[in-house]
Amino acid sequence: EKYVYSFREGNAEMKNLLGGKGANLAQMVQYGLPVPQGFILTTHACLEYGKDEKFLDGIWGDVVAAMNALEKETGKTFGSGENPLLVSVRSGAPVSMPGMMDTVLNLGLNDESVESLARASSDRRFAFDSYRRFIQMYGNVVHGVNGDAFEEVLEHAKKTLGVTFDNEIPEKDLVEVVAKFKEIFKKSAGFDFPSDPWQQLRNAVVAVFRSWGNPRAVTYRKLHKIPDTYGTAVNIVSMVYGNLGDDCGTGVCFTRNPSDGTKELYGEFLVNAQGEDVVAGIRTPLPIAQLKDAMPAIYDELFEITTNLEKAYKDMQDIEFTIERNKLYILQTRNGKRSAGAAVKIAVDMVNEGLIDKKTAVGRVSPEQVEMLLHRQVDPKAENEVLAKGLPASPGAGVGIVCFDADDAVELAKSGKKVILARPETCPDDIHGLFAAEAIVTSRGGMTSHAAVVARGLGKPCVSGCEDILIDLNKETISKGDRVVRKGDTITVDGSTGRVLIGGAPLKEASFSEDFKTVLSWSDEFARLQVWANGDTPEDARRARSFGAKGIGLCRTEHMFMAADRLPVMQRLVVADSYEERVKALDELKVMQKEDFYGILKEMQGLPVIIRLLDPPLHEFMPKERDLEEELAELVAAGKEHSPEADGVRKVMAKVESLKESNPMLGFRGCRLGIVYPEISAMQASAIFEAVLQLVDEGIDIHPEIMIPLVGVKTEMEFFRKQIDEIAKDYMEKSGKKFSYLVGTMIEVPHAAFVADQIAEHAEFFSFGTNDLTQTTFGYSRDDAEGKFLGHYEDKGILPVNPFHELDRDGVGALMEIAVEKGRKVNPKLSIGICGEHGGNPSSIAFCHAVGLNYVSCSPFRVPVARISAAHAAM
Ligand code: ADP
Ligand code: MG
Ligand code: MG
Repeated sequence: EKYVYSFREGNAEMKNLLGGKGANLAQMVQYGLPVPQGFILTTHACLEYGKDEKFLDGIWGDVVAAMNALEKETGKTFGSGENPLLVSVRSGAPVSMPGMMDTVLNLGLNDESVESLARASSDRRFAFDSYRRFIQMYGNVVHGVNGDAFEEVLEHAKKTLGVTFDNEIPEKDLVEVVAKFKEIFKKSAGFDFPSDPWQQLRNAVVAVFRSWGNPRAVTYRKLHKIPDTYGTAVNIVSMVYGNLGDDCGTGVCFTRNPSDGTKELYGEFLVNAQGEDVVAGIRTPLPIAQLKDAMPAIYDELFEITTNLEKAYKDMQDIEFTIERNKLYILQTRNGKRSAGAAVKIAVDMVNEGLIDKKTAVGRVSPEQVEMLLHRQVDPKAENEVLAKGLPASPGAGVGIVCFDADDAVELAKSGKKVILARPETCPDDIHGLFAAEAIVTSRGGMTSHAAVVARGLGKPCVSGCEDILIDLNKETISKGDRVVRKGDTITVDGSTGRVLIGGAPLKEASFSEDFKTVLSWSDEFARLQVWANGDTPEDARRARSFGAKGIGLCRTEHMFMAADRLPVMQRLVVADSYEERVKALDELKVMQKEDFYGILKEMQGLPVIIRLLDPPLHEFMPKERDLEEELAELVAAGKEHSPEADGVRKVMAKVESLKESNPMLGFRGCRLGIVYPEISAMQASAIFEAVLQLVDEGIDIHPEIMIPLVGVKTEMEFFRKQIDEIAKDYMEKSGKKFSYLVGTMIEVPHAAFVADQIAEHAEFFSFGTNDLTQTTFGYSRDDAEGKFLGHYEDKGILPVNPFHELDRDGVGALMEIAVEKGRKVNPKLSIGICGEHGGNPSSIAFCHAVGLNYVSCSPFRVPVARISAAHAAM
């Protein structure tokens, strides 16, 4: 196998082998773009090295040969000679993990070659600036030398000289800085800074291979669900220099605005700077528009190249460039990360521009991004004091207490606090803190700074580059003049406008942009699964419809019983001693239920509504024992121990006592209630049909479906089917009017899945109640499991994920497949859906698609997420 590729030998299709960075560099070479030459060690080499470190000896000859070829092409010699060749050693995984792994620039410098570089460039300041950067990066990346010690030396030098920025330190002082850097290196590493370029190269390659396993890279992969098995490639690229003076510079740009999606060349640059300077927030960079004035020809060239790259890749590009003495070089291109809003706008714009088709556009918007767009925004009417204005680096609103350290942010978030992370700038080591925070504020760095890029990727609001505030990490304060915000104070970050507000600002619901609606409607064209919503009230129904739901998949009638005016009637039903008493209570309930059903059916006209009959154990409607005891104690204290009120309380207490079950979730609930008290289901069916008749009279098109919960055997189903059909027939005969309805069941116990064929003889639809089905399949009581052991199960890798969040395919899913197959065998037209919370979870939706369900039903707020997920599942 070939483990070393020159840029000439690769292309963009080879990302898995060459990594994203290498494959794209190679592709740009194919396009004839100005890319510095170089070569790549493949991801397979990284994996082989991981298995056996000796592997590198075996391919080192190929590396040397590739370097020799590079020397020939550039006319320089690696790390020596009159015109020394220096290289960067850059990591590059198959999927982009910005800033997560390591890069070393200016490799090949030593005490001799630095002088040659000085002569060859006629700029000794530049040579030593490059050298100090190299020692720091190499020390840090290869030998783990803490960067702070180097930074202190630089800070000290700047202070003594009275200058603000690195690029203002003169040559003579840089020479001293280099000497001090070498001392720091020696002290920390325990040996002299290695002067042999080949040794440097080999060590850097090893460090990049190893960086695949560094904790922040591992964390990043976990957060973004990237497999650990990819490995990283290593790119070795001949150096070009942006730090050679004022006709030099370096920058980052996007072909569209990554924050709001506007079509414009967007980005930042720094004059006389190298590599990471722009991203690291060392100096706040200038907007790219100013490059147009500073170096117009370069700007035009950059504009043309980036426009063509976007056309070629058919996606928004994130491009790194360097200008060396008025010559432009492109150092990287990749599909740019973007905010959720930008993703939607760019997808729609690109379809309108004819660059991509609708299907591609839908595929470019992730369910997570749709979810972010549903997040709330700062109410424009908010009157909170504005502490600072920075750059709107990542949209959305975050309210929380301020903290200044990534570890603190994680701790506070763990204890249930919402936190805002404030830092002068962030670095890749802060990733866990960024993840834990609601939002991020930085005082330095631009729109392409580390904080901004990561925040957009995570969907966290971020305001960067608030230059008029001072973030003091020691005092843990944010101050502007004499206005001081301390650790623990509440602030609001408005990433959409770039403002930081004092206190918690009022938020308002997100509004759907036209582009967002367009993408969702395209989604529906590609999805095969319909998306319905769970909703109990006309308001729920209205919201569900406005989010695009095609039906109500679960209307829980018990939620209606919980309302304040109904609970007492319901309680009378529960404590009733006789059939007569029960019927009296039921008659009252029927009137109220009819109204409920009328409202929701009317709201959903034209679309199906599945109404589930009473499901929970009756004790849920009863007052708490402790409250009853208190009530009785009060009566006794008031000398009313033998009053009728006290007797009433005692009666309720006795009922509550008798309703106690050791396993209520497996107890007297669901259809079991209606088998024992058929009058309850009869009342509910009557209420539904009375509402139906009224709506029929009004000429409204309705599609009621009645769902029996917790059916396990066919005789249960048969029982209710018969009862409901008789009641319906009765209403039709009495009114002389016809109406249609369906009767079906939830599949939520394993037995029901196994005998789904028998149940299907009497059911017209199935709906998987995967909350209960997961409980009963695993034998986990959800309320106990989530608090007590499921967390440990995930931490110890016993379960990959919480099966109540993501549908378990192996067990629960297998039962679903059995039920689908058996059910459709008996009734090929059987409509099958899911109404458990999994119905709004993207990976569970993909599974529902795969097993051939007709629809998923989820909470109204998740309908848009489910619509895009259903489309992705079908692609
Ligand atoms: P990351 O993946 O973190 O962006 P890169 O490998 O892209 O790391 O490099 C870090 C920085 O160094 C980037 O700004 C890049 O443009 C710059 N850089 C990398 N290689 C070279 C080179 N050969 N010449 C000049 N600058 C380089
Ligand atoms: Mg890069
Ligand atoms: Mg259930």
